[in-house]
Amino acid sequence: MPLSNMPSNAAGSPEAGVRPGPPLWLLAELTYRCPLHCAFCSNPVDYARHGAELGTAQWLDVLAQARALGAVQLGLSGGEPLMRKDLEAIVADARRLGFYINLITSGVGLTDERLGALREAGLDHIQLSFQDSTRELNDFLSSTRTFELKHRVARMIKAHGYPMVMNCVLHRHNLPHVGAIIEMALEMGAEYLELANTQYYGWAWRNRLALMPDAAQLREAEAVVERYRRRIGSRCRILFVVPDYFETRPKKCMNGWGTTFLGVAPDGTALPCHAARMLPGLSLPNVADMPLRDIWFDSEAFNRYRGTAWMKGACQSCDEKEADAGGCRCQAWQLTGDADATDPVCERSDDHDRVRAIVAQGRLAAVLSQGRVQRGREAPLLFRTDANSLRLSKP
Ligand code: SF4
Ligand code: SF4
Repeated sequence: MPLSNMPSNAAGSPEAGVRPGPPLWLLAELTYRCPLHCAFCSNPVDYARHGAELGTAQWLDVLAQARALGAVQLGLSGGEPLMRKDLEAIVADARRLGFYINLITSGVGLTDERLGALREAGLDHIQLSFQDSTRELNDFLSSTRTFELKHRVARMIKAHGYPMVMNCVLHRHNLPHVGAIIEMALEMGAEYLELANTQYYGWAWRNRLALMPDAAQLREAEAVVERYRRRIGSRCRILFVVPDYFETRPKKCMNGWGTTFLGVAPDGTALPCHAARMLPGLSLPNVADMPLRDIWFDSEAFNRYRGTAWMKGACQSCDEKEADAGGCRCQAWQLTGDADATDPVCERSDDHDRVRAIVAQGRLAAVLSQGRVQRGREAPLLFRTDANSLRLSKP
């Protein structure tokens, strides 16, 4: 029986004859183009080999299909989504369809005029990223001079009546600045601050030894966040996302493969997880070739890790398998070379030592580099550039 004809259950496992529920969250990665070059960028390392982009009509069709399937939340990201001249048209159509629309941006390209147009088109929410509270590190980590520009954009976002949602990716170079980052967010009048510790995919994986914090830094940063939370109450809500590598259980990646999240890459590749492109042997469908409904319910890629029947090793007989769905498939592949393995972040995994080893190597690399990154000399960082992307992904 095709999955699309099975009875509905959002947490269902197809192998048990249960139809998955609809995707709730559509992430439209409109483009991989970006004026910044962040060393922790989560775009695929080979992004420069996937330069094709869906046209406006194709994106509008994807939105309509996703809405018909039941998706309610739309994230517009990239790369930098403002690189698309048709962003306003896409937002207007998403509004007409009834999506709640979130723009995820570095701020580069967000002028007063475009903000007005996006407001008029019906954009609900803007998430603006900073790299640090200091100009030096912000500009160094993105390999651009964008610190002042981001501050100007933050003021414009407030002036247009949007809630100020600031995001900062954390790692060992800016974790000691967490207090200053929170102060900066308060000064800007941010209502929300997302302090997202680096997840080691894409460029961040390549730079893991240069970015990995140590446990003491994390504890100190969490204590600072706690102190601020108590002091400022609901004036600014602070979300602190702990890095996987310091946990003993993995995250329930994407809330479970093929249960909630549907990503579409710039070239139309449909993704059960935004990093899934890295998984070898996973034949990802394209929205140009297949209706979204068939992709979601029937494609091999979206069914590969639904439910629990695919699990092996420690997960197979584990009493927590429904709670974390076995963790992250991309992490399992990166760390063990087997995408079906238990996520090594789990201390029940036979490969958990690999996570500990990377943390230890990061600590050693930090001692050896002795703050060179902050001073902008001899940085052992690999920046996200087209040239690096092509070089690193040479067939
Ligand atoms: S992380 Fe940096 S380089 Fe990557 S898309 Fe975002 S702003 Fe651009
Ligand atoms: S063994 Fe598997 S299912 Fe059990 S806690 Fe670890 S990752 Fe989760």
